[in-house]
Amino acid sequence: MTDPLANSYYAATAHRWRSAYDMGEELSFDVAVIGGGFTGLSAALACAERGFSVVLVEREHIGFGASGRNGGQLIPGLRWTASELESEFGRDRADALFDLCWRSNRVEARIAKHGIDCDLKPGHLEAAWTPKDFDAMQREAAFLDKRFGYQSHIVAKQDMAVHIASPLYHGGVHDPQGGHFHPLNYAIGLAQAAQRAGVCILENERVYRITDNRAGPGLITDRAHIAAHYIIDATDSWIGHVEPDLGRYTVPIMNYNIATAPLANADELLPSDAAVADSRFVLNYFRLSADRRLIFGGGERYSQTPPRDIAAFVRPFMAEVFPQIADAPIDYGWGGAVAVTMNRLPHIGRRGNVFFAHGFSGHGALVTTIAGELIAEAVAGIAERFDLLANLPARPFPGGKWLRRPLATLGLLYYALKDRLG
Ligand SMILES: Cc1cc2nc3c(=O)[nH]c(=O)nc-3n(C[C@H](O)[C@H](O)[C@H](O)COP(=O)(O)OP(=O)(O)OC[C@H]3O[C@@H](n4cnc5c(N)ncnc54)[C@H](O)[C@@H]3O)c2cc1C
Repeated sequence: MTDPLANSYYAATAHRWRSAYDMGEELSFDVAVIGGGFTGLSAALACAERGFSVVLVEREHIGFGASGRNGGQLIPGLRWTASELESEFGRDRADALFDLCWRSNRVEARIAKHGIDCDLKPGHLEAAWTPKDFDAMQREAAFLDKRFGYQSHIVAKQDMAVHIASPLYHGGVHDPQGGHFHPLNYAIGLAQAAQRAGVCILENERVYRITDNRAGPGLITDRAHIAAHYIIDATDSWIGHVEPDLGRYTVPIMNYNIATAPLANADELLPSDAAVADSRFVLNYFRLSADRRLIFGGGERYSQTPPRDIAAFVRPFMAEVFPQIADAPIDYGWGGAVAVTMNRLPHIGRRGNVFFAHGFSGHGALVTTIAGELIAEAVAGIAERFDLLANLPARPFPGGKWLRRPLATLGLLYYALKDRLG
């Protein structure tokens, strides 16, 4: 597949590595994973650590999807706040979800365990676009502290300069447990760890179908039939290509990033070096790379066709936040599809021997690693924590094959317009 969106800073600074597996005679495994993003890699690695024989089949290359091109922002939690989870699901489930999605930072644990070199830095700032947003953030920070003892710092408008040189924001919350990293190098590090643990990684191999015929469950790929007792579908935005029914639960929204040239005044823009995401519906999110570039994500497109000039498309959003670098040279512009569910919670589950996890709704950099590990737990027969995520509510988008995307787009445009009008 040629990818017009691949001119990324991450691809240009990726560690070199090669998957060492050549498809030979051995086409029978305990577990076959489809997709070489964070979810698939984490699941494959955790299954191998539990002693299963594992093959991972990736249509392009490791990190080709959202995992290798995202904003690199590590934001604890889900798209719902902890107080929303508690009022919807009650105290006990909220406790368990909090432990999984806020407290258990499996990304940091993986980085430490495997010595993954991916520019990990601590600190995440949520910046309030409106005074109302700031009020809501303060209430949530107080709830997290009182209920879970989770400490973050409320930053008043007049103190925002400690973190960000922009006059736009009405305050924020700094979370020292969040952070940022080079997502493609994290994916590559996971792949190397998985390979060392015995996972057979097949790149440039597309899965067409999951079978469950007389020969048993397996995958039909470009070149083979791979038999496996368990299948893990980790194809996210592409899930409908392999399993059309699951494709009804997400719509892919295109989102774009740029990286400036290294900036002499980088430290003045973001003095605490935290990653920042703001509270707009179509949010701006940005951070500094290890070599002092501003990596800025902003603007969504509901058409699948990318803008002809991604830098020109994203620059106005950056200039609005940081007028002082409005004309800074931009070295890279790229984009990817964010798989979004109806309620913005991930859709995770099991159908027979096929496990799946997708639709992290722009909040997947941290949760995908734990989702993969919980799938491995469930494959090993321990389903309690997996069930917590699998029992999150999920509804397919209405509208059938042809109307689903236009209807979802209309809804999203409505919220984007509301955002613009304040
Ligand atoms: C532009 C952008 C910015 C984002 N920013 C952030 C952020 O800052 N913080 C955050 O938390 N989240 C962010 N996200 C979301 C996050 O990146 C995703 O939730 C996460 O990476 C999903 O990982 P995954 O492994 O499930 O899917 P993916 O990384 O998309 O992996 C799926 C893989 O499956 C492969 N595949 C598909 N079909 C087949 C097939 N038939 N056969 C074989 N292989 C197949 C694909 O090639 C791909 O490599 C962002 C997403 C995008 C697109």
